[in-house]
Amino acid sequence: QIRVRYAPSPTGHLHIGNARTALFNYLFARHNNGKFIIRIEDTDTKRNVEGGEKSQLTMLKWLGIDWDEGPDKPGDVGPYRQSERKEIYLPLIQDLLDRGLAYESYITEDELKEQREAQKARKEMPHYEDEYAGLSAEEKQAKIDAAKAKGVKPVVRFHVPVHKKYEFEDMVKGHIEFDSDSIGGDFVILKRDGMPTYNFAVVVDDHLMKISHVLRGDDHIANTPKQLMIYEAFNWEPPVFGHMTLIINTLTGKKLSKRDESTLQFIEQYRELGYLPEGMFNFITLLGWSPVGEDEIFTQKQLIKMFDPNRLSRSPAKFDAKKLEWVNNQYMKKTDDSRVTDLVLYQLIKAGRLPENPDTKTIEWARMLTSLYHDQMSYAAQVVEESDVFFTEPPALDDDAKKELAVESAPTVLQHFAKLVKEIKIFDATEINNVIQSVRKETGVKGRQLYMPIRIATTREMHGPQIAESIELLGREKTLHHLEVTLK
Ligand code: GLU
Repeated sequence: QIRVRYAPSPTGHLHIGNARTALFNYLFARHNNGKFIIRIEDTDTKRNVEGGEKSQLTMLKWLGIDWDEGPDKPGDVGPYRQSERKEIYLPLIQDLLDRGLAYESYITEDELKEQREAQKARKEMPHYEDEYAGLSAEEKQAKIDAAKAKGVKPVVRFHVPVHKKYEFEDMVKGHIEFDSDSIGGDFVILKRDGMPTYNFAVVVDDHLMKISHVLRGDDHIANTPKQLMIYEAFNWEPPVFGHMTLIINTLTGKKLSKRDESTLQFIEQYRELGYLPEGMFNFITLLGWSPVGEDEIFTQKQLIKMFDPNRLSRSPAKFDAKKLEWVNNQYMKKTDDSRVTDLVLYQLIKAGRLPENPDTKTIEWARMLTSLYHDQMSYAAQVVEESDVFFTEPPALDDDAKKELAVESAPTVLQHFAKLVKEIKIFDATEINNVIQSVRKETGVKGRQLYMPIRIATTREMHGPQIAESIELLGREKTLHHLEVTLK
């Protein structure tokens, strides 16, 4: 049976790159009727952040990803947090110690630093040099005793076999091999604080949790030989590995990294702006994976059906924020008005434009505002960005708009329009359209010279949603005020 996992470290919010890893594992599991497992890798206690796990899980759920086993869904192979699995790891570490495949290492951080500096001076890659190299058994024991007397706590290191080839067939990248001499020397499997390291715990867990495929970011490629060594030491069958390429931000041309401030990178930030989870899901699947054919918009169900890991790309994925907007807009258009209105309401309240507890009239107004922007919208906060005119003093006009108003007939059009607007009984889009027609008849001005001045004077923009509906939303008072300001 196919069993895959997403194994976040709770070091912060759910990043786009991690969401992608989760999502591809999810699609792979669901496509194959397998199981999708969440495991929290929290052994690096210094890096864990309060609320990190909860935020990760909440965002995965928001994206529409569910799992079969996890910290909140116990299965047969739990617990699903590494910090709760110490009783599982420690006997296995002891087993390696007993078999001479690992050893206690008393080298201090300072001594390691010295090693690295000397290596740097010799222009060598940093690596651990065997602290006991060339020592006799007695000398070695004396060294250990001295360290113990000084209160040095040991770590446990894994004996890396000398000059041995480790290879695997990567689902994405094909054949990969490493020489054991190139991985930096005997590596730590148990830290001074008694926690296993990632490279050890990940192997134990993937084995005991019966993980069949490990699909993860290619920043872990260099860890894979270390993990293969541990599989070998226990005589366990390794899973199939697949390493997905990194994600490049098209804005900067560089790797999408948490330090890159040009783009939002956390799923939570997109949710906060009123993006749709279905749109995010669809967009993320296109980061380094492509379906057969030209289409790019698919439901989750379709994606599950067609997901094929052979179509994971070998070249870097491109993160294009504009494309994200486009994909989300495709979903916005398909989403019913009431759901979009709720998203927009949330944004308007957050921006302080509507009261916390809007009354039915206000909600109805927000619904109308939403429907004006609905089809152009990528995310709900855009409505706040684009609807200043409804809330503030009329914004200043740009040069192009001023040019349109400089047309000779413009003042006449606006004066007639203002006069008729005052007289309308029911101030709604139908009546406003009738008024515009009356202005045409009274002044003989038509087409652009009729519509542009009215649009610009009222909405202060040359482009925008339907004019009569916009004016209805603006309300009579504001409309007259904007006309007055423009005619001054
Ligand atoms: N905890 C690791 C990470 O967040 C998971 C690596 C793996 O999937 O093996 O990068």
